[in-house]
Amino acid sequence: MARPGVVLPILQNWSCHNCGGCCREHQIVITAEEKTRIDKHQWTAADGVTDDRPLIVVHGSDFRLNHQADGACVFLDDHGLCRIHSKFGEAAKPLACRAYPYAVHPAGNSVTVSLRFSCPSVVQNLGEAVTQQRQTLEQLAREIVPSNYQALMPPRLSTLKQLVTWPDVMLLLAFVERGLSVGNVSFVTRLLRVLTWIDLLEKVPPETIIGDQLKNLLPVLHEASVRAQPDDDLPLVQPTGFGSTMFRQLVAQLLRHDTDMTARSGFMGRIRLLSDGIRFTLGRGRIPIMADPISVRIAFSGRSAIVPESAPASLATMPTFAQLEHEFGGRNPEFDELFVRYFRVKLQGLHFCGRACYDMPFIDGFQSLALMYPATLWVARMRAARNGRQTISLPDVQAALATLDHNFGYSPALGMPSAKKRVQQLATMQQVSALCSWYSR
Ligand code: SF4
Repeated sequence: MARPGVVLPILQNWSCHNCGGCCREHQIVITAEEKTRIDKHQWTAADGVTDDRPLIVVHGSDFRLNHQADGACVFLDDHGLCRIHSKFGEAAKPLACRAYPYAVHPAGNSVTVSLRFSCPSVVQNLGEAVTQQRQTLEQLAREIVPSNYQALMPPRLSTLKQLVTWPDVMLLLAFVERGLSVGNVSFVTRLLRVLTWIDLLEKVPPETIIGDQLKNLLPVLHEASVRAQPDDDLPLVQPTGFGSTMFRQLVAQLLRHDTDMTARSGFMGRIRLLSDGIRFTLGRGRIPIMADPISVRIAFSGRSAIVPESAPASLATMPTFAQLEHEFGGRNPEFDELFVRYFRVKLQGLHFCGRACYDMPFIDGFQSLALMYPATLWVARMRAARNGRQTISLPDVQAALATLDHNFGYSPALGMPSAKKRVQQLATMQQVSALCSWYSR
């Protein structure tokens, strides 16, 4: 069987800038072969690795790289570099380390490549164009997708409907991507239009959404959505109390950062997480302190820190939930560029539905992705307000997206049936659009 072609995201750059954040924030699962290889390296304290704990631990049925006392991977050195890489070269590192921040997924007869915006270099679009890295990525795709790979079934269109072919999925993807990228209106208007016609698509008879009929239907739906929202003069619809509560719960789950350090925080750590969750659900008083992930702190320190290193972390200095409901100037061409890039990478990489995202159907997955827009702007508001500003800046938005995308598609909590149901409820009650519009102000 011919190897599937590899589809790369356009518009996106990336190179590693050695911040070392990913080596502190992820649990690295390794294969039995990788364990054998690392064992054969015969690491000792003379190599600088810690000798007070095993380098590899067993977790359930997995092998994982252990962490140092400060939470860093046992192989991370004081300069933020990987000792395996330094001593044996890049190819000797575990596949999980070599792949990050790329995410590779089979899609029909091709393999798509997406990126995780939790990496500060991805969110800031720093480094070499991804399209220039084809050879490396094709090699990576060969390692991740085996040669005897059987094409997966396409994601369903919605929980109620079956999408029959991969070509129809690709047609829909192209149409969504075009809708978000093209037009003399702001990103939020384009997003609301797509949400409108996606909603209409869910309501049409199933036989209309196949092949040529789908091809003819999509322009009609798009036209209807443009008529419904012809320009950037968006109606000011405040999310309902129910919608706001569901949204804050989503943001709390997206913000939650489970690292080796939090796993070690024990009973008191779990109580704190519970109390933070209750605060987010109630939405009253001050927002709990949510410390930045290390990579975000390194990349954005001084420009948009939630808890600046110069100031002690104190709840009294955090903004209130109510403070974040004012206007913060979210409609800005610089932010739009970031969101267009983010959405296009996730769409082209099929990184929002199906296998890559909790087996969510296409429509639910897209609505879930759409919620990343208000969630990011909400967290950006929190960062700005924490620093005494009433307008969000590009570093606020970049740092917020880097923080939240760590969990999108990866946090087990977001794949639970209750979390999937929440997306459906928000969409059914027109709250996805309301939240996008409200927090774009
Ligand atoms: S093995 Fe190397 S690249 Fe992988 S997490 Fe550890 S230090 Fe980072």
